[in-house]
Amino acid sequence: MAEGSLEAPVRHPVPWQDADFTDPAAIDAELRRVFDICHGCRRCFNLCDSFPTLFDLVDEAPSMELDTVDSKDFKGVVDGCTLCDMCFLTKCPYVPPHEFNIDFPHLMLRYRYAEFQKSGVPFGEKQLTETDRNAALARIAPGICNWASREGNGLTRPLLESTMGVHRDAALPEYAAKPLTAQAKAKPPVRDGSAPAAGRKALVFATCFAEHNRTETGTAALAILAKNGVEAELIYPMCCGMPQLEHGDIANVADRARKVAAQLRPQVDAGLPVIGLVPSCTLMLKFEWPLLVPDDDNVQALSAATKDISEYIVDIAKTEGLAAGLAPLDGSVTVHIACHARAQNMGQKAAELLRLIPEIDLKVIERCSGHGGSWGIMKQHFEVALKVGKPVARQAVKNAKEAPGRHYVVSECPLAGMHIAQGMGLIEAGARVEDAPHPVELFARAYGLA
Ligand code: SF4
Ligand code: SF4
Ligand code: SF4
Repeated sequence: MAEGSLEAPVRHPVPWQDADFTDPAAIDAELRRVFDICHGCRRCFNLCDSFPTLFDLVDEAPSMELDTVDSKDFKGVVDGCTLCDMCFLTKCPYVPPHEFNIDFPHLMLRYRYAEFQKSGVPFGEKQLTETDRNAALARIAPGICNWASREGNGLTRPLLESTMGVHRDAALPEYAAKPLTAQAKAKPPVRDGSAPAAGRKALVFATCFAEHNRTETGTAALAILAKNGVEAELIYPMCCGMPQLEHGDIANVADRARKVAAQLRPQVDAGLPVIGLVPSCTLMLKFEWPLLVPDDDNVQALSAATKDISEYIVDIAKTEGLAAGLAPLDGSVTVHIACHARAQNMGQKAAELLRLIPEIDLKVIERCSGHGGSWGIMKQHFEVALKVGKPVARQAVKNAKEAPGRHYVVSECPLAGMHIAQGMGLIEAGARVEDAPHPVELFARAYGLA
């Protein structure tokens, strides 16, 4: 048997519709098989909270082996996983095609799916996953809603904690008064038909975060594409289902995948790329959807057409060359490469993008912020999320302090950005950056577009 696989990792479809997939005895047997290998290997000890929880369980068991660990304690290991995919992609030598066939994150997903089938999701947590409905409600009175969800609101945050399970101290995103699609329709950016990439056409998938919360990311992306001559159409069919995936509601995600892929098929067939603005969503379209719905040709075609926004702009720079007009920034930059960008196997595209800005002074952090979607704002996870993300926040504080003048901290993952900013303030009062935007927002600034 090979010590580790030397071939490129392959991910198998998730057989969630097989009867065996939710069989408790089969799940327990698979958990024990994989956990035993992990306990001997321990390579992932510092990636997240799942592995230390597992290793402590085994080390503290009567026999110091897995056979004396109670299966009910496995839930703590599953709960610690944010589905960031880093163990599968960056550490594990036993991923397929190795005969050990280990896919740790998808095993955690299997456990969650079985739990979801049995008991659903607690009411409050389920409400959080309804991103489109929540945004529609918030837009009735965005000022009041943003006031109520603001950090330090002693009136409303304890209530939010007891009803929805959101930790009272977690930083939460604000809602935009107007969705990105409406903003773009009202004020479309002016396209430069003489730019080198003027022959390009693309669909920009807004993602729920850019559509409802951080519209600035979308506005910046559209402005950059227009400046470079790209004929871009902004679309927002619906949320990609990452929040539902976190809860193991696979059928819901599969349904979204089928609907969106069928809707976009004509444009995909016409050769248009689909550009995602948030790496978690792009990852869903590229890799998770096809593994959850392997029999749907539309989903496979959409997956092949999907690109990340940084990846797309870097491709313009390499293929046709960028439109002129980039000027140096008024400060140095730390860029956090989000796990879900790393999981797309495309290299450090956010860093490559920023290096296109003249004279940039750039520092790169490639490590999980600890946030993990809605996982990190929950009452039971927030403290752990801060602990996991502390090395990133510490490095960002150090970079900011060493910078002679202004220092920007940016992340492709909007929730990671907020979490890093909050973590910086907890390391040192006053070190918290006001904002950690998407790298395209800085890029638009360098173009004088933001
Ligand atoms: S997917 Fe990420 S969070 Fe989950 S076990 Fe692997 S490294 Fe940890
Ligand atoms: S997931 Fe793979 S690399 Fe990580 S501890 Fe388990 S066996 Fe080792
Ligand atoms: S850094 Fe962002 S993309 Fe990566 S796991 Fe954390 S929340 Fe998800």
